Amino acid sequence: MKKNDKNQVVIFDTTLRDGEQCPGATMNLHEKMEVARQLARLNVDIIEAGFPIASPGDFDAVNQIAKTIKGPVICGLARTIEKDIVRAGEALAPAKRRRIHTFSSGSDIHLEKMMRTTRAVNIERSAKAVKLARTFTDDVEYSAQDTTRSDREYLVDLYTACAEAGATTLNIPDTVGYAIPDEYAELIAFLIDRVKVPGLIYSVHCHDDLGMAVANSLAAVKAGARQVECTINGIGERAGNTSLEEVVMAMRTRGDSLGNVWTGINTKEIMRSSRLVSRMTGFVVQRNKAVVGANAFAHESGIHQDGVLKHRQTYEIMVPEDIGLSGTELVLGKHSGRHALGAHMHKLGFVLNEEELNAVYEKFKVLADRKKVVFDDDLMSLMQEQASDAPKVFALDYLRVTAGTDALSTATVRLKKGDESFLDAACGDGPVDATLKVIDRITGIHGELEDYSLQAVTKGEDAVGEVSVRVKFGVEIVSAKGSSTDIVEASAKAYLNAMNRYLFMKKFASKKKITAR
Ligand code: MN
Repeated sequence: MKKNDKNQVVIFDTTLRDGEQCPGATMNLHEKMEVARQLARLNVDIIEAGFPIASPGDFDAVNQIAKTIKGPVICGLARTIEKDIVRAGEALAPAKRRRIHTFSSGSDIHLEKMMRTTRAVNIERSAKAVKLARTFTDDVEYSAQDTTRSDREYLVDLYTACAEAGATTLNIPDTVGYAIPDEYAELIAFLIDRVKVPGLIYSVHCHDDLGMAVANSLAAVKAGARQVECTINGIGERAGNTSLEEVVMAMRTRGDSLGNVWTGINTKEIMRSSRLVSRMTGFVVQRNKAVVGANAFAHESGIHQDGVLKHRQTYEIMVPEDIGLSGTELVLGKHSGRHALGAHMHKLGFVLNEEELNAVYEKFKVLADRKKVVFDDDLMSLMQEQASDAPKVFALDYLRVTAGTDALSTATVRLKKGDESFLDAACGDGPVDATLKVIDRITGIHGELEDYSLQAVTKGEDAVGEVSVRVKFGVEIVSAKGSSTDIVEASAKAYLNAMNRYLFMKKFASKKKITAR
């Protein structure tokens, strides 16, 4: 089938901006780079890499991604303020293809109560910002927040002014997740009809507060939108954004009823992207989530199983291979060498330098000793550990616990901080509680466990257990993961990773980050 370009829907990924902005999903530079590399393999059209003015960390991430990631257009966010645009332009300068995404608001409630400005001033400022952005790149996107609660005639004036000033993509966000599909589609069609500037791409950015982000995005596509903003696993502010994997697989599976639209996404990279983002952010994917949940392709009932065995299409509308799920592959064992590990990591998409490979290899050998077979997922888990302990302040050096039905649990822990070692012991209500108490005592930092979950990474009794935690330190909430074949050790690592992240954030976050949309 010959593809018609007018039917291509541009995939704009904002995992590293809107996704990363949600509480607890903060990633360090190393983690952001891993995600950006994976997004390039997934073949997204645009990576919104961050909000350069928000913090020096955001600037560095956008700048590094602009320098090193080849393929997608790299985008940076900016308010309609001169210093934001200049900063975004600087961060994006090394990118071969770059976009500045500037935004203000469209609703009276935002303009009056939040931005303390008028409709007329907002139009003037927005158009001026677009013009300035055009001096850095000819690819400029403009968004007015809260369009679904805005006056439509005002939106026509605002978007027309920005398009005339040089914006090439007009994004119509449902910032508060308020729209329903028919009404949102109608708004998009209305603006396409009324903004009389030719050659524009209309974009949608939906939030999932009412569980309709994907449905709203698809309705908008049917109405003529040709860019969808989305995130891996749907992470993002509050209930999250449109989920990339769902919207892409819906267009692939049901493009026929959406006007034969298509995307350039390499869907075979979807599963890997989902797992990577889950590991980097500590946000667990629910088992029954569409497309990427653990049960998405599991047929339990006898009738369904019988049907699928006789003919897959009886109950399957997609095949697991489409999203890169080819079952658990046996990969490496304790006799595999450093070279084999490096080659396999490369196949999984990790580019490791000598030092990184050595560090992963050490961890791999320990794991292969405990576990007969090492699966791809085990290796992904090792990589996640490697990435998240980059800013390591405290490291687990020794752990011993006693636990049982008739005994009070006790834990002895030794932590390392640089060259120093600290040893202490405590009792607790179970081995995990005892272990975390010792860690609090040694570090002098008190964390409150808000959430704790344990998942086996692969099958079998000797599987690696992955512990995800959300820990509250003062007012900050930090997510982290830790993995080991020993679940108490995995818990200790997860908790320490959270603490290290907290210490890292405290050190670099001199002021509260500016956040958007
Ligand atoms: Mn948003």
